[in-house]
Amino acid sequence: MGAALAFESTADVGHWIAGAATRGRGQRSQPVYNPATGEVARRLLLADEADVAAAAAAAAAAQPAWGEMPPIRRARVLNNFLALLNRHKDTLAAMITAEHGKVFSDAQGEVMRGIDIVEFACGIPQLLKGDYTDQVSTGIDNWTMRQPLGVVAGITPFNFPCMVPMWMFPVALACGNAFVLKPSERDPSPSLLMAELLQKAGLPDGVFNVVQGDKLAVDALLAHPDVRAVSFVGSTPIAQHIYETGARHGKRVQALGGAKNHMVVMPDADLDQAVDALIGSAYGSAGERCMAISVAVLVGEVGDRIVPRLAERARQLKIGNGMNAEAEMGPIVTQQARDRIEGYIALGVEEGAKLVVDGRGCKVPGHEGGFFTGGTLFDHVTPQMRIYREEIFGPVLACVRVKDLAEAVALINAHEFGNGVACFTSDGGAARAFARSIQVGMVGINVPIPVPMAWHGFGGWKKSLFGDMHAYGEEGVRFYTKQKSVMQRWPDGIGEGASFVMPTAQ
Ligand code: NAD
Repeated sequence: MGAALAFESTADVGHWIAGAATRGRGQRSQPVYNPATGEVARRLLLADEADVAAAAAAAAAAQPAWGEMPPIRRARVLNNFLALLNRHKDTLAAMITAEHGKVFSDAQGEVMRGIDIVEFACGIPQLLKGDYTDQVSTGIDNWTMRQPLGVVAGITPFNFPCMVPMWMFPVALACGNAFVLKPSERDPSPSLLMAELLQKAGLPDGVFNVVQGDKLAVDALLAHPDVRAVSFVGSTPIAQHIYETGARHGKRVQALGGAKNHMVVMPDADLDQAVDALIGSAYGSAGERCMAISVAVLVGEVGDRIVPRLAERARQLKIGNGMNAEAEMGPIVTQQARDRIEGYIALGVEEGAKLVVDGRGCKVPGHEGGFFTGGTLFDHVTPQMRIYREEIFGPVLACVRVKDLAEAVALINAHEFGNGVACFTSDGGAARAFARSIQVGMVGINVPIPVPMAWHGFGGWKKSLFGDMHAYGEEGVRFYTKQKSVMQRWPDGIGEGASFVMPTAQ
């Protein structure tokens, strides 16, 4: 890892519409913080309805020509974008650390997982090939093609300001759509650099637009008649609002929501690996990952063996400014989020869970104003407790004790979220049964954070996803295209006359 320059711009963060940066017409703005220092770093200009309408109009004007362009030429633009991303990936990572707080090496990983999707989208000619049947009836052929939807929108969360937008727009653009991105208010800057890089890559102006904003901008997108589809990633209550409102306006919607991811540790698991996996997946990115492990399900006697080791490691976490190469965990994104997390820790104590390691009141020398909290570990958490049922979205690991694998599976299947899950074991039969019976969308066997690769598609079950199509991969291509079926014949000779019966293969 080369030394990276911190992102320190103090310029206001505005929108990107029709190929140009703009302050828009909205009159409201809000601060963007550096969570490591607690200081206001820059201001975010919030879009009003007119700004959203301008972005949608730019997209609607640019889309027809882009959609007509042969897929291989669209792929070449994405290929240029890929090269530029690779050149600027550390700048993007530094922007992420500056506004989100996660450690720089983790931000680099985030950018790389976004780049994976661009690489996938470069294969769009193959993905759009469609299928063809010669001679469905004598002299008649039938084929399907997939055509772009038109203008589509993406609304994204704070925790992956680069990767989650890249779950969406590379595939949407490759399919021939124009895109309007509404990034998170907390860490909006990477979206503008990505817009600039797309333009440098040769993307026609208007095909990719960014509107910064809050609920007002989101609701304007949901109601806009030109927006044909909405991809959303964020918390469950908002995902449900997006899904219901978008559907009411006749849009295609995929809305990915919150999570409470469990990791089962069987008594036959390799304990060193399980401890490493739990520490990294519970406290990495300060637990602000939708695939973070927040519940350890400890089977049989493994609980007594593993909890002291987890406690020792949680106390030793190196917490600091994410640009410090030594840091393993950075700050929480905002003071409000830190207060929410520490409120849950107090609640866990009230509910009767055993607080083994208390991360509250964490101070980082030289960063006294930063939004830090330490790694927290609870033991003897029970399924009735709110700290078990609700998403905390912070560095808080809850240990639940169960007697056997069947009880672990029943516990997980009863939870309202179903994003990710893991099982650590050395028994292949138990692992296979677990993977088949668990009611969760993404499963790791001895893998704590099983985020599928670009060509597999990402999505949870239950309240972790509203809609039926997962993000990216072939599901993404289906989401961003409409299937058309064409049946064709070129009759020669005399017509056969009108037919009044249902046509069948002749
Ligand atoms: P959030 O729901 O607060 O915000 C997500 C987006 O919705 C932002 O762009 C925000 O501006 C917008 N928004 C917020 N309130 C709104 C409202 N009332 N009406 C309309 N739009 C609104 O989520 P967040 O705090 O940015 O991100 C963390 C959440 O995202 C966690 O719940 C996490 O689990 C989830 N997440 C899920 C996945 C997944 O793949 N399932 C991935 C990443 C994050």
